[in-house]
Amino acid sequence: MHKQNFKIILSFLLILSSSLIFSQKKFTIVLDAGHGGSDHGANRSYADIGRVAEKDVTLAVTLKVGAMLEKNRDFKVIYTRKIDEYPSLSDRTNLANRSKADLFVSIHCNSSQRPTAYGTETYVQGPNQNDENLEVAKRENDVIFLDEKDKQTFGSYNPSSPESLIALKLQQNKYLESSLLLGGLVEGNFVNKDKRFSRGVFQKNLHVLRMNAMPSVLIETGFINHPEESHYLASDKGQTEIAESIYNAIIDYKKAIDRKTGGSVSVKKPEPEKPAESPLKNDFRILLLSSPIKYNDGDPALKGLNYILPLKDNGLYKYYYGVTNMASVKDINLKTAKDAGFRNAYAVGFMPNQKLLTGYYTIEVYTGEKLNGNSFILQTLKDVERNKENGVFYYTYGKVFTLEDAVKLQKDLESKGIKNTIIQKVFK
Ligand SMILES: [Zn+2]
Repeated sequence: MHKQNFKIILSFLLILSSSLIFSQKKFTIVLDAGHGGSDHGANRSYADIGRVAEKDVTLAVTLKVGAMLEKNRDFKVIYTRKIDEYPSLSDRTNLANRSKADLFVSIHCNSSQRPTAYGTETYVQGPNQNDENLEVAKRENDVIFLDEKDKQTFGSYNPSSPESLIALKLQQNKYLESSLLLGGLVEGNFVNKDKRFSRGVFQKNLHVLRMNAMPSVLIETGFINHPEESHYLASDKGQTEIAESIYNAIIDYKKAIDRKTGGSVSVKKPEPEKPAESPLKNDFRILLLSSPIKYNDGDPALKGLNYILPLKDNGLYKYYYGVTNMASVKDINLKTAKDAGFRNAYAVGFMPNQKLLTGYYTIEVYTGEKLNGNSFILQTLKDVERNKENGVFYYTYGKVFTLEDAVKLQKDLESKGIKNTIIQKVFK
């Protein structure tokens, strides 16, 4: 079958099935017992109980958590392993992604060079792994549904469209928020119920967290090399307590998520169709920052955001993010900018195709030292204007009267190999 047709049919079936079996959808959770087979993980021998291996503790705890969850009809439990074998890390994350799981919980034990180290800790996706995780999210999400409102905004999913990319970034933030919620609940139970010492919830760059397209946590249930804690980890009492704490955290987590989304399991009346959103009169861009400094694409000052329009106005570079004439997308763009760290960002309206009455737009193609006549820019473009200000040379090209034409001109230059140019507003 033609791939495109297949995709359309698949999306149709997904929409159909999600509306038909919405009320029966189970919450799918992947339980991952760390290590296994020839990979023993942390281990240490003790005179009285022999060798304690991480792979055995993680499997025992995982099976107990799974048995508790399976008694609850709301959950579908998938195990990355149920016996003493070693699935690779990508086997584990592939399984979770393919099964479109709602949650991934990896269970481990800790070890340290310091014999006195003890306690529990939970890890969530690290702060510097967003880009890779975004690639995973792009690959793994054929159809993304954030919630009803977002679904209406973004419609069908196309990984190369800016709107879908924004939706994915939003979704990533939601995953991180959810992962932090579960991590806090798990550690809270360890402390309040089991009277253990929690070292906290941390962000860390780990494969099983980075390569998953869903909220994910990795729980370090205690230190194998700490004599007292190791005996607790190896005991049936200890394993049961740990499993109950994780189980109860998952139950509370799901309740919190259901409250937020209006419940995915309980039967829910379909909402009446909302009228389609009508476009606004103006285009809106998000002003991220104004600065005397010129930043090129990918500069850390732009905090990883793409689709940026730099506009030079009165000697200041203004960096605008995104463009839309839909109110809902404008709000999302603003939130994305704020989440990226531009706390003072705000939306600015631009009247489409508005002609400047005084002055014009030109393209600043180069600033810096004086250009050589053989330079690429001067060879490629005729009629480049040169200005000198405080010892700095400014080269500009073209004269147009609407922002849209200026953007077109900038794109033309880019196709000729002249990149990182700035649209400049000239008052005259
Ligand atoms: Zn481990």
